[in-house]
Amino acid sequence: MEGVLLTGTATAGLAGECVRCLAPIEDEVHVTLQELYVYADQHDRAAEHDDRDLDDETSRLEDDLLDLEPLLRDAVVLALPFQPLCMDDCPGLCTECGARLADDPDHSHDAPIDPRWAGLQQLQAEPTQDPHD
Ligand SMILES: [Zn+2]
Ligand SMILES: [Zn+2]
Repeated sequence: MEGVLLTGTATAGLAGECVRCLAPIEDEVHVTLQELYVYADQHDRAAEHDDRDLDDETSRLEDDLLDLEPLLRDAVVLALPFQPLCMDDCPGLCTECGARLADDPDHSHDAPIDPRWAGLQQLQAEPTQDPHD
């Protein structure tokens, strides 16, 4: 009986962006919590003898209250997806125009112009007068 063992579950709402296409994502995470909250005086006594097991990370009861926030925060952060996606096979964005490929999977572009020749394309685009007109 060195403290209070807390077990429970929590649900948190998630809001973020897809890492591939930047579409907004809303989701939920469910976490299970288990933590031993050590009686404050016991912690101090134990720390004098052995600081290997009880360090500053140890959760402690404070005036018979326990602070859920650090526990909850750590559990939720660990449950967050490392690279959130709007769907498992999100195709991302078009590298040419930035369109979201999931919305417009079939669109295509002409072959990209080599930037060194781009100037020539401009000359070509200028209106050419037909000499016989
Ligand atoms: Zn996406
Ligand atoms: Zn495109």
